[in-house]
Amino acid sequence: MINYGFQSIDQKDIDSVVKVLKSPWLTTGPFVNKFETKFAKTVGSKYAVAVSSATAGLHIAVSALEISKGKEGITSANTFLASSNCMIYNNIKPIFADIDLKTYNIDPTDINKRITKKTSLIIPVHFAGQTCDMEVIYKLAKKYKLSVVEDAAHAIGSKYKNGKSIGCCCYSRMTVFSFHPVKTITTGEGGMITTNDKILYERLKMLRSHGTTTDPNKLIQNPGPWYYEMQNIGFNYRMTDIQAALGISQLKKLEKFIKKRREIIKKYNKAFSNVAWLTIPYEEKGVFSAFHLYVLLIDFEKINKTRKEVMELLAKKGIGSQVHYIPVYLQPYYQKKFNYKKGLCLNAEKYYESCLSIPLYPALTNKDVSKIIKVIRLLKNS
Ligand SMILES: *Cc1c(COP(=O)(O)O)cnc(C)c1O
Repeated sequence: MINYGFQSIDQKDIDSVVKVLKSPWLTTGPFVNKFETKFAKTVGSKYAVAVSSATAGLHIAVSALEISKGKEGITSANTFLASSNCMIYNNIKPIFADIDLKTYNIDPTDINKRITKKTSLIIPVHFAGQTCDMEVIYKLAKKYKLSVVEDAAHAIGSKYKNGKSIGCCCYSRMTVFSFHPVKTITTGEGGMITTNDKILYERLKMLRSHGTTTDPNKLIQNPGPWYYEMQNIGFNYRMTDIQAALGISQLKKLEKFIKKRREIIKKYNKAFSNVAWLTIPYEEKGVFSAFHLYVLLIDFEKINKTRKEVMELLAKKGIGSQVHYIPVYLQPYYQKKFNYKKGLCLNAEKYYESCLSIPLYPALTNKDVSKIIKVIRLLKNS
């Protein structure tokens, strides 16, 4: 079965992990430090903090902003649950903005409409790897004094129109990345937060480790060498050196991975662009997408099949597919807790009706790609 996404692990990755297993240090240690330094350098940020997942990263990134209770945050309706759950963890009400039907990214005009006196945060999500309209979002944030935290789980290696890498935080306070196996590079589970703000950096490091510090410069008292001090409520969101070693090894291949992804995209686009019942992904001029996903819009009516039937048909041929995403506010928890109903974000709902992600990862062979193209083009007749 070809999954919609899959890790690419080679012997060098395996050797790096084995090396750590034979070393005296397994949890957060020298490899985590090295991974953070290399990652910050890659994306062009001052600081990077490795965490156990992007979900953990989003949680403590929002915590680090120390937003008071009863405020609101805005994110995209078309995202994974973690982009808005992180607000709920911090007693911030998640508000959803609609998407642009060309890019499938959050629409700044709709963000503007949903800003209230309580709004204090925007979490734009660079969907499928394509950057959001950050210039406009940045201007809005400045005008209304809002913090911006970028969810870049899809966008390791993507670039803005200004040519800078996502993660450099030129439009945001912090940027959060995921190293889940379906993402561009993996550490099994893991995440990274980048920032240029020293105060946020120090807070993040404490929050990922129980809210404690042993740094003599930060201790309120210092009775002796055993002493650690809890100054805030934090968590155990640390990354292990085992994961970091894999991360360092994977990061070296980032460019190669993206190149391969873009080669596959080129073939898909060529094969599907002239099919009347398919819409291929749009790549905005001037932005560079690392393409985490390849999303097709399918006119299911035209091929006289439901999405369920199409997914089952593909599965029968050994081809996995997935839907990215169910508008978050339609989840039962959100409907019940916040009284959200269908109709809140019409574009996201319309998009959701026809989207389908087909396999995209560097290890796909030419044969796999040809087969996927053939099976999809024939969907109308099968
Ligand atoms: C994968 C993903 C996350 C969560 O990442 P984890 O590392 O699995 O916690 C958050 N946001 C988006 C948009 C994602 O796709």
